[in-house]
Amino acid sequence: MEQVDIAIIGGGPAGLAAALYSARARASTIVFEQGIPGGQIVTTDWVENYPGFPAGVSGQELGDLMTKQAEEFGAEIRSFTAITAIEPYDLDFKLTTGEGDEIIARAVILATGAVPKKLGVPGEAEFTGRGVSWCATCDGALFREKVVAVIGGGDAAVEEAMFLTKFASKVHLIHRRDELRATKCIQERCFANEKIEMQWSRTIKEIKGADGKVAGLELASTKGEPDVFLPLDGIFIFVGIDPATALAGELVELDEKGYIKIDHDGRTSWPGLYAAGDVTDSELKQVITAAAKGASAAFEALRFIDEKVCSI
Ligand SMILES: Cc1cc2nc3c(=O)[nH]c(=O)nc-3n(C[C@H](O)[C@H](O)[C@H](O)COP(=O)(O)OP(=O)(O)OC[C@H]3O[C@@H](n4cnc5c(N)ncnc54)[C@H](O)[C@@H]3O)c2cc1C
Repeated sequence: MEQVDIAIIGGGPAGLAAALYSARARASTIVFEQGIPGGQIVTTDWVENYPGFPAGVSGQELGDLMTKQAEEFGAEIRSFTAITAIEPYDLDFKLTTGEGDEIIARAVILATGAVPKKLGVPGEAEFTGRGVSWCATCDGALFREKVVAVIGGGDAAVEEAMFLTKFASKVHLIHRRDELRATKCIQERCFANEKIEMQWSRTIKEIKGADGKVAGLELASTKGEPDVFLPLDGIFIFVGIDPATALAGELVELDEKGYIKIDHDGRTSWPGLYAAGDVTDSELKQVITAAAKGASAAFEALRFIDEKVCSI
């Protein structure tokens, strides 16, 4: 069976930073990534809050640079390889891939991140890929001179609404409250953008379609106003994220929202199993914190391996 010192599950910012620290310390390191490396950040057009890039950087480029840097120090990035099971194996861990391959790792870092939340309304599943999207960078250009809506009120929703104004003739920003959660400076730019029209205090009742694609949204009011129908060509949903804990849920302790509980250094409740980034209960879910926690988790995983060797 294939053996590795540190197996990292997930090739987003947390996993790639962990790989950089682990490989640079000369531990054999494999990052298992079910898709292409980079994580959620490659779905955003522009990142302007990662240090070292004063003019900002595209999400794709940031993901590519992190991948390259980890590889240059000797980490192996195994793309399109999902891990489907982890189990304790003597003093180590056995990982199983979607293809049925098995790998023995002396320590494991869970960096599986998070996936965008669904609205759970009628029409969402039916019109996904037919006007309903979770990725403005991927699909924005399909809506040139069209009318679209963004649903959400946090940083990601507002930034993606502004990005979509590069293509769409109008962007409705629909939020269930009467104020946004987004950072103030992002809000200021949003309100100054003439293509964005706010739809305050509205929730989504149904995504309506015609001829097999999105036709608009049936909106309810949180302030007792009548329902309205908003005609649209596209709908972009940014209402939060769910942690990807399917793999780890039975081995490690989760918090009440389903995130993996970690201590200050990235230790989970199972010795030798570490976690970092959006999948954990850390408060701030950003690239900088994911990368920082990935580095800490790798540092602790290396220490764990050293201590294991000394105790044998
Ligand atoms: C639209 C949008 C805009 C954003 N803008 C910003 C921004 O401007 N600035 C900022 O700092 N942050 C931003 N963020 C947040 C940032 O992208 C995340 O905080 C960060 O990517 C978290 O990194 P992560 O490595 O923990 O998880 P992720 O980026 O989610 O990466 C996890 C990876 O694990 C992989 N994976 C999951 N399960 C498995 C498995 N079983 N086997 C193998 N691989 C698996 C996934 O495919 C994924 O690639 C944005 C997020 C979004 C969605």
